[in-house]
Amino acid sequence: MNDTDLLNDFSTNYLKEIVGANNVLTRKTDTLEYLKDWSGSYSGEAIAIVKPGSTDEVSKVIKYCREKKISIVPQGGRTGLCGGGVPIAGPSAIVLSLMRMNTVRNLDIVGRTIVVEAGMVLEALQNEVAKENLLFPLMFGAKGSCSLGGNLATNAGGSNVVKYGTTRELCIGIEAVMPDGAIINALTGLRKDNSGYDIKNLLIGSEGTLGVITAAVFKLFPQPLIRKTAFLSLESIDAALLTLNMVQDQLGDSVEAFEYVPQPVIDVICLAFPHIRSPLDSAADVGVLLEVSSCRPSDAESTSSSSSRIESELFSILEKLMKDGLILDAVIAASEQQRNDFWRFRESVLESINAYGPSYHFDISLPLSSLSTFLHEADLKVHKLGFETLTIGHLGDGNLHYALANHSREHWDTLPINKAKDDVLQILKKLGGSFSAEHGIGVSKIEIMQAHKDPAQLNVMQTIKSSLDPDNLFNPGKLLPFRNGLNLGY
Ligand SMILES: Cc1cc2nc3c(=O)[nH]c(=O)nc-3n(C[C@H](O)[C@H](O)[C@H](O)COP(=O)(O)OP(=O)(O)OC[C@H]3O[C@@H](n4cnc5c(N)ncnc54)[C@H](O)[C@@H]3O)c2cc1C
Repeated sequence: MNDTDLLNDFSTNYLKEIVGANNVLTRKTDTLEYLKDWSGSYSGEAIAIVKPGSTDEVSKVIKYCREKKISIVPQGGRTGLCGGGVPIAGPSAIVLSLMRMNTVRNLDIVGRTIVVEAGMVLEALQNEVAKENLLFPLMFGAKGSCSLGGNLATNAGGSNVVKYGTTRELCIGIEAVMPDGAIINALTGLRKDNSGYDIKNLLIGSEGTLGVITAAVFKLFPQPLIRKTAFLSLESIDAALLTLNMVQDQLGDSVEAFEYVPQPVIDVICLAFPHIRSPLDSAADVGVLLEVSSCRPSDAESTSSSSSRIESELFSILEKLMKDGLILDAVIAASEQQRNDFWRFRESVLESINAYGPSYHFDISLPLSSLSTFLHEADLKVHKLGFETLTIGHLGDGNLHYALANHSREHWDTLPINKAKDDVLQILKKLGGSFSAEHGIGVSKIEIMQAHKDPAQLNVMQTIKSSLDPDNLFNPGKLLPFRNGLNLGY
């Protein structure tokens, strides 16, 4: 394709009339960045990138696309790891980038809620509410680029779910444009509303297949007065879970993060970033990044030993668990700088694994009591097949990012990847786990969805999709496998 307009003049002019001439991109040099995701693994073609500035504009664009049978790929920050936000399937598609819609519509300090537009970047929202000493807790490595619309559409998780829940639990209202162009306004922010089906929850996690989320109401929380962060080396996964329970029992709901970062992953991070030091000098076969926080002034007060109350209590718990042999080594961050270093270490995992060599990533969840059995059985199977495993996870939620990897591309190409995937999925199924914990399905897990999702649930999803979007124009080829052998996505 040349550097020329790809839409016919009539369509281009009409879309430009709706959103403004500068907000319809058709030249290849302008569109390129919108056509591939963060990982670079997924890319596609579109006839235009359309960037609306209001909900009304979104509705008009959608009505027009429906009339012309043009597919729509809603897009936020393109940090989704499953290929959902870039066009892949469909004869002709526009990318609908929400990133211009990025304002705060209302901040209710008394009600501790905020109404924001879908294109607002997660970190921008966090900075905004921090000015009022409030917290929006969703936390993960892509916070500086991902959008709240994308967070809702994928029901994003991250490291604070153990305390605050997923995006679904943080959202109490939504505004969206449905496939027929109708605007749903459910931005009341009511904490109780039992007036029929919950459309908000239908759209959360729908990955752009049922409509475009344009705004939402989120819950806010008080900013913690104090945070304490520790890196632990534990005797086993079960010892780690006992530690989690013990800290939760003794420090109330203070645990904000309980992240699994074992030694093989620590080695890969240190290899990719030689200037970064592991938090512990000793080996941490079962390494955990633990963070506790409190809003209570009494927890932040200094004790006789001049540390805060929460720190001395945490110290006593860790000391006892060390005496019991569950914890082998531990370090508590002594400064904000050291805390940031621990988190930078944790957040460089994905880049480090990618730099290490080729890999295949499972994003799975299991009952906490089955985590160690899963790791034992899955590692045994795939190591025998010649794979290395690099596993991290949000351990407190039972969510593992389990990667099959190999340092050598040449060796990787000879390995039986499909057999390894099957083996892992069988073990997961036997233990009652889910093959998709927090990143969604996109295109990357569509075959697994077809093979492993409960057929009755899949059927309900496909029925909802075909009734709301009968022409299959919304993000075709994503989330839902083909129905009746037709390449329609429903
Ligand atoms: C370094 C890194 C770390 C990450 N860590 C985590 C993690 O810990 N937990 C986690 O859950 N995810 C994580 N992710 C994945 C990703 O950041 C999330 O999935 C995020 O929610 C995607 O937001 P986005 O704005 O980038 O969406 P995009 O990638 O643009 O889109 C994702 C999906 O949402 C749809 N969509 C986007 N906006 C809208 C809208 N307004 N209306 C309807 N549909 C829409 C798209 O069509 C697509 O299907 C990580 C990613 C990276 C790169």
